[in-house]
Amino acid sequence: MTAATSIVCPDCDGTTFTLLPCRCTSFGDRFLADEEATLVQREAYRDCEQCRGTGSVAYPCHRCRRRGRRRAQLVLSVANLDTGAVASHSMVPGGLDPQPEPSGGWVVRLADRVRELAAVVGAAVTGDEPPLGLPPQWRPDLPAVRRHELEAQAIVGLDHLPWRLIVGRSEAASPVEPAARLGRLCALADLLLLDLVIEARRQGARVDWDVRYEVPGSPVPKIWLGHRDLPAALAGTDVADALTGLIERGRSAPARMLRLDGPRPPAVPAVDVDQLERRILADCVDPKTGDELPGAQALWRDGRLWHTSLRGGEPVEHLVEQPTGQVVRRVRVPLRRGCPPPDPPWLGEPIGWRRCPDCVPGSRLRSCDCRLGDRPADADCAHCGGVGMRPSALTCPTCFGTHRLPETVLVTLTDLRHRVVHLAWQSGVPEEATLVATQPGGKPVVQLPDRYRLGSWAPILGVRPEDLAEADGGHEIDYDLRGGYVTLPWARADPIVEHVRAAGRGQPGARLIVTAVRPDAPPLTELIRLALGLDLALEVSVCDLRHHAGDPLRLAGLRWSVRPRSRDAAVRPDEWPHRPTLEAALAWCVECLDDSVADAVPADPVVPIRVPAAAPDELLADPVPALLRLAARHAGQTLTVRFTRAGCAVHLHDDGGVRLLAEATDLHDLRLR
Ligand SMILES: [Zn+2]
Ligand SMILES: [Zn+2]
Ligand SMILES: [Zn+2]
Ligand SMILES: [Zn+2]
Repeated sequence: MTAATSIVCPDCDGTTFTLLPCRCTSFGDRFLADEEATLVQREAYRDCEQCRGTGSVAYPCHRCRRRGRRRAQLVLSVANLDTGAVASHSMVPGGLDPQPEPSGGWVVRLADRVRELAAVVGAAVTGDEPPLGLPPQWRPDLPAVRRHELEAQAIVGLDHLPWRLIVGRSEAASPVEPAARLGRLCALADLLLLDLVIEARRQGARVDWDVRYEVPGSPVPKIWLGHRDLPAALAGTDVADALTGLIERGRSAPARMLRLDGPRPPAVPAVDVDQLERRILADCVDPKTGDELPGAQALWRDGRLWHTSLRGGEPVEHLVEQPTGQVVRRVRVPLRRGCPPPDPPWLGEPIGWRRCPDCVPGSRLRSCDCRLGDRPADADCAHCGGVGMRPSALTCPTCFGTHRLPETVLVTLTDLRHRVVHLAWQSGVPEEATLVATQPGGKPVVQLPDRYRLGSWAPILGVRPEDLAEADGGHEIDYDLRGGYVTLPWARADPIVEHVRAAGRGQPGARLIVTAVRPDAPPLTELIRLALGLDLALEVSVCDLRHHAGDPLRLAGLRWSVRPRSRDAAVRPDEWPHRPTLEAALAWCVECLDDSVADAVPADPVVPIRVPAAAPDELLADPVPALLRLAARHAGQTLTVRFTRAGCAVHLHDDGGVRLLAEATDLHDLRLR
């Protein structure tokens, strides 16, 4: 017997909202509250703007997304990317096969199910699904109705991700060797002139580990996510992970020139990871008093490791407005390095800067929109009354809150292996700029010489200009920076000043770090086969803007996006292909696979999730040449091709709508109108 696959939401009893204590009750009946103060009793704030002093607020139930019902079905799917085989298992009340735990209680071992499915499709999978615990009342001798009720309760606890996809390959990937990973990260730090920081920090009773890059002079960060030990931190941190957050961490780092004429550090020697871990842990204790310290770091800088403890700095007090109308006093103790390492020899003289004209340090005042485009403030402006500044909750977009605009920006381009180019773009250096266009408002657009065009360095590093991306986060490099185009605010403005401002905006230590790496992604045909195996649609959108090449005012080249969607979903009219290359779109598709699969689940919890299966299959013929021909025929317009088990359908986006152009069982059979 199988029970229902949806139940009334246990969090809101089906009413779609929940009554919860108001946030004000954690601070009590006072306007100014201390975050750390302990309350004798929870009490509502009389003037609360959220609960009007009643102490409780009705929130829409987020667990059931205001539907009143929850899904009691979990589908596990395992796919083999090399063969296209898919196997799935649907877990519903009455079909769970619970196992007793030695410590008491009953669990469903999801990892066992995943292993069975992986064996069916011949895939090596990594990672372990944690077991699903059943409520303590569950016993095998209960009546079936009661057992199924309890099992449904356990399954709905996982309904934030009711369909889980695990993708593997036929061959297991070789595990990451922590020492080799550390060696590679250190070598890259020397190449890019960055610090590699290996940090242990106390989080309550345990010590967490983190490995990351920093621009020298970055403060010890507040926000922090850790691993359980150093080998795990190294295994879990690749180059892209270590670079993530570099900009935010280094916002306040001082900007200094790079001296590139000195001797290069020697090749990275082998580092013993266990020994390094022990040394850093030992540094987490004060050698004089034996007291526990908040943490410790080892910094790889200029070819060697420097060790330092982390200590509490001067407490900083913040007043934080609450949505309740209260103000909470929050005291934070920032960490500082006990023994900061000496400057590396490659750091040169400080870079000059000018004050940001669009914000006032220490206040929320920002340039008013009436001043946009370097106009004088509008005397009749309704927002600022002609002052030109107005309060805003957003970070200043000109300087990202640093209040400084550097006069030089240091650009580092790298293939993340062994090639690197360091450039210094300095304001005040006269350069020949060619007038290439005029903006609709009349501002001149000039183009700077080759060394200011990031795109012209791409072939030197072995990639296409559209493969250039910001090292932190992988964002595409701006079209203007790639082509060296500068829009001048007025005719006689210095183009280098404007170019430096655009490139250096908010960058740590005035350093813009750019990767020149072709994205690593499976071919489109593998992802189509995978989507078909999962009984989904793979949507590929493409827009051909190659006819804009050489026009500095318009985006040029090809734009792509690739995403799996529900088989029956309609093409979204506003779909715009965001990625500059097919490989970038494919890499993004793989990165978001978990979420896309979860989005393909029917919104209504009463509608069961399909349980897809597929035998190994041949790859389709490569549809990319046909896609390119189609896109060229409709240049300037977005095309979306949906690949499903039924065939493929070509849609054209125009006038805010979507039009079906053609359908066929195979893209190569399409007769195009
Ligand atoms: Zn309240
Ligand atoms: Zn609910
Ligand atoms: Zn204004
Ligand atoms: Zn600013």
